[in-house]
Amino acid sequence: MARLLDPTTRAALVERVRFYRDLGLTEFYRRPVDPALLAAEPDEPQTQGALHPNLGAPGLSSETWESAPQPIFSQEDQPIPPRKPFPAPPEIAAALPATARAAALQIIRDEIGDCTRCALHSGRNKLVFGDGDPAARLMFVGEGPGADEDAQGIPFVGRAGQLLNNMIAAMGLKREQVYIANVVKCRPPGNRVPEPEEGNTCSPFLFRQIDVVRPEVLVALGATAATWLLGARQPLAGLRGRVHAVRGTKLIVTYHPAYLLRDPRQKKETWSDLQIAMRELGLKPPARSQPD
Ligand code: URA
Repeated sequence: MARLLDPTTRAALVERVRFYRDLGLTEFYRRPVDPALLAAEPDEPQTQGALHPNLGAPGLSSETWESAPQPIFSQEDQPIPPRKPFPAPPEIAAALPATARAAALQIIRDEIGDCTRCALHSGRNKLVFGDGDPAARLMFVGEGPGADEDAQGIPFVGRAGQLLNNMIAAMGLKREQVYIANVVKCRPPGNRVPEPEEGNTCSPFLFRQIDVVRPEVLVALGATAATWLLGARQPLAGLRGRVHAVRGTKLIVTYHPAYLLRDPRQKKETWSDLQIAMRELGLKPPARSQPD
């Protein structure tokens, strides 16, 4: 017998699974369910949920409830689906003079245009391209716009953005001194995780932004950014605390500010990741040195 969760429970469950995923926990098991309990409940209509395929797993979407424990999903070390080709990394491409980078970013923005390349365009108010110094030494990459960003067309302007601003200030920098972009440039409905197809379609533009800005250090905010920058899904916990290399740039992985809003205890961990970025940039923390 097929059984669906009601939309509220489903949304709460998605949020909870995201929370665990941000923590690096990616395998879940269901307790056996008494079939008699299910038989007592009427069938609900089948609908296609707006869940990420990784979340559209037994018990979370339209699959049958089964009595044996089943992993809901396992995404560790799974390669993301093949990407479309994108331009060569900057190791072999000439760096643009800093003064030419704003124009080069504008060319990418113009090429994106009034994009309809993936399904996300249909729910978009404003496309969120990027923000900050085109010649920044430090670049942050998030997942995708939320409601505030979608309304304003600027990344990280909502609550998570306020926290990111605090993190940047704690590093002794101003927001205008860094560059900020996302894996996808249009808001996923309900702030869900971008689908692989959406990330595949949009991330080549992110890589071109990185190639133009050529930051010395990239900071991936959360698991989605880390996945798309590194090209493979891995638990975030295992990626933190060290320096990776992406397109000729050092990459630090840390928690997404939205996750820190849900679990402020992880700010300390994030601060230690940001200190790695600061060390790589040769930055000294200002006197007051931990983000609020
Ligand atoms: N979360 C993101 O990942 N990006 C934004 O721009 C805002 C919130």
